[in-house]
Amino acid sequence: MSLIRHHVAGAETGTADRTGEVYDPATGRVQHEVALASEAETRAAVAAAAAALPAWRATSLIKRADVFFRLRHLLVERADELAAIITSEHGKVLSDAKGEISRGIENVEFAAGLVHLLKGERSEQVSRGVDVHSVKQPVGVVACITPFNFPVMVPLWMTASAIACGNTVVLKPSEKDPSASLFLARLYEEAGLPPGVLNVVQGDKVAVDTLLDAPEVRAVSFVGSTPIARSIYARAAANGKRVQALGGAKNHMVVMPDADLDAAADAAVSAAYGSAGERCMAVSVLVAVGDDVADALVAKVAERVATLRIGPGTDPGSEMGPLITGAHRDAVASYVTGAAGEGATVVVDGTAQRFDGDGFFLGVSLVDHVRPGMRVYDDEIFGPVLSVVRVADYDEAVDLVNTSPFANGTAVFTRDGGTARQFEFDIEVGMVGVNVPIPVPVGAFSFGGWRNSLFGDSHIYGPESIHFYTRSKVVTTRWPDPSESQISLGFPSNH
Ligand code: NAD
Repeated sequence: MSLIRHHVAGAETGTADRTGEVYDPATGRVQHEVALASEAETRAAVAAAAAALPAWRATSLIKRADVFFRLRHLLVERADELAAIITSEHGKVLSDAKGEISRGIENVEFAAGLVHLLKGERSEQVSRGVDVHSVKQPVGVVACITPFNFPVMVPLWMTASAIACGNTVVLKPSEKDPSASLFLARLYEEAGLPPGVLNVVQGDKVAVDTLLDAPEVRAVSFVGSTPIARSIYARAAANGKRVQALGGAKNHMVVMPDADLDAAADAAVSAAYGSAGERCMAVSVLVAVGDDVADALVAKVAERVATLRIGPGTDPGSEMGPLITGAHRDAVASYVTGAAGEGATVVVDGTAQRFDGDGFFLGVSLVDHVRPGMRVYDDEIFGPVLSVVRVADYDEAVDLVNTSPFANGTAVFTRDGGTARQFEFDIEVGMVGVNVPIPVPVGAFSFGGWRNSLFGDSHIYGPESIHFYTRSKVVTTRWPDPSESQISLGFPSNH
């Protein structure tokens, strides 16, 4: 069985002292072992990043941009290979894996514009003969810690902007699907990135804690579940680091009585069950405004899911693949089996569906009459389970969304522009869709939730990432006329 190792200073490193198992979720079999880095191995990766920093931050912007143009080309050229790696370790269907790659490429395209993005500002004559300008300089070594569910896109969310800004990086991908990050690191180097600028350390809490405590690490980007995001934020911030920690989600899709209910049902099915619900922007709560809307939507969703094809991600006929592990599949199923006891109605019970073999498959579930206070509503399930909450009117829908502890994404389905505009104004969530169920912003905007979906004050990728990965320096300049030289002990005033 092969051992997936680290990538440090351009070379493969790592021992098999401590390892984890990497499954093929479609068969349930262990296909690789992954090295779990020790403190010393993690520190070596940080040292490699620190050693590469002076030369990389001194590299001209045009040369840096060249790397991203070439990387984009390589990602397009090798997309099939990369998608196969994603599907093999994550389980999502190949078309979804390719979609993830194309969304990640948007971040590379954004980074290729770094010459424009890193422009500072200048004011002439702020005082007589005095000019001021600001520059954006790299923060230093950046640690990027990523979740299992987007093994290519989320590493690209972080690494593209961090590297474009002149930083060097230690990336710690999820130990559940670690191969894609190694592939990315090699692709970056093939595109011209010097060794040591992007290092990959495989591992678990040991590696993460070492990164959070390393003095050379100046900024931490994290994406994962809320409890871990909260603890990463606290530890990194206590160590004086800049930190953004994106957490879990429970995304509500509000359907108004005037909506096109067929379009809404199509959107709900795609957004709830795509990637087996293992998306931080998956719709997990359908908020139906009025019982008529709820009854119609429940019937339409149930009708649509009856023909969903669930199978291995490599089978072009599959629309949904397995879950990431057997333990996660069982945890997801427990929410469905427990829902009836909580007073909800299980309309479609995915736990009853049987599959051949030992893959981590689970059928899709639809649960009606769900209310806050039930586990099926309160917890992020992260699986193919869609809850329906019935509300009487628009105000109740907005209250429900605004009192959820999570606030990553939300959507409203309506044909009324006034309602849509009011929703945008009222709703307290980081990303909002109007007739768009998964409103993940394009690469030129930034991504991030509110409340327990993000700890820190910077959203990820896009313009906010340039701010996050740079430090601003302001320079005040005078080239005095020697004939006007004079001594003044007063505080400099510009008036
Ligand atoms: P996770 O929190 O279990 O793991 C994320 C990362 O943290 C991994 O690299 C993991 O190795 C590491 N980690 C896990 N436990 C740790 C610990 N105790 N100490 C230090 N590090 C630890 O998340 P996951 O299961 O890999 O991913 C799914 C979660 O990620 C879901 O909650 C999902 O909503 C969230 N997510 C959020 C976004 C977003 O943008 N907000 C995007 C994708 C995924």
